[in-house]
Amino acid sequence: MYKFDPKIIRVGISGCLMGQQVRFDGGHKRSDFCTDQLANHVEFVPFCPEVAIGLGTPRPSIRLISSGEHGEIIAQTAKGVDVTDALRDYGRTMAAQFGGLSGYVLCAKSPSCGMERVRIYHESGKGNVKDGTGIYTTELMKAQPLLPLEEDGRLNDAGLRENFVTRVFALHDWQSLCHEGITAARLIAFHSRYKYLLMAHHRESYLQLGKLLSDLSSKVPAIADTYIAGLMQALSLPVTRNNHTNVLQHLQGYFKRLLSSGQRQELADTISQYHQGIVPLFAPLTLFRHYLKEFPNDYLQQQVYLNPHPEALKLRYGI
Ligand code: SF4
Repeated sequence: MYKFDPKIIRVGISGCLMGQQVRFDGGHKRSDFCTDQLANHVEFVPFCPEVAIGLGTPRPSIRLISSGEHGEIIAQTAKGVDVTDALRDYGRTMAAQFGGLSGYVLCAKSPSCGMERVRIYHESGKGNVKDGTGIYTTELMKAQPLLPLEEDGRLNDAGLRENFVTRVFALHDWQSLCHEGITAARLIAFHSRYKYLLMAHHRESYLQLGKLLSDLSSKVPAIADTYIAGLMQALSLPVTRNNHTNVLQHLQGYFKRLLSSGQRQELADTISQYHQGIVPLFAPLTLFRHYLKEFPNDYLQQQVYLNPHPEALKLRYGI
């Protein structure tokens, strides 16, 4: 059982991405971002489903094959052995123990671990498509619908990378709240801290989730379940430059009367430069942090939007 620990952010990962030589050809697919950067902030827990079900290394490669009248998907080795049930059972057994994980990085294109666009071969040999999900990952998705998932290749995209890490830290934050014990007051305080992050991802969700919390006189656990499902869904949506600009302008409003005219102009110019794509998001946020030191504001300082993940990852330098 992978228990939750408020002090450690545990993230599952395909073993080959950690550099383990577990691929069918005896190689690995080490992810530099995961091993060299993210691993400094989370504890990776590696799994290789194919090795776990007893296929050796090296081994015959596996394919997803669509067969029968209803196009049932099976996983078959190059030697014709059907390993679908073994992968499915392993996925079910493991995923049931993953309540303490806060994210999972999967190896792309794998018939076991792939998250999307895995190639499915038609048994006739014609009509192959790239729209499958690995057998193990299908079970993971079913059992842990809140768990942020991402593939190694997609993590090379600055926006997707930042989005994934934001969700991992948000889920861990939520899990810490659950660990502490959810009360109406804590739920409202949590939502308040996520205001600007939610507004950046999906303003409507911020409003809907606020409405959901408007009556917490009973059924707090059920409302909390609906709340976190809505929050994780909203955070999975990409943030546009327009949305970020909108949030930055909201934040700017807090400093209107506090800044000198020169500072106000500098802030407005930096937000405008961000909006035009001249500077990254990091630039206006640095100014906000600087002004917050000069003019402390408890409400703004607790906003997750300003610090959704460790600064050392530099995730907002590229968006
Ligand atoms: Fe093992 Fe998954 Fe990597 Fe394949 S993709 S080697 S099954 S961890």
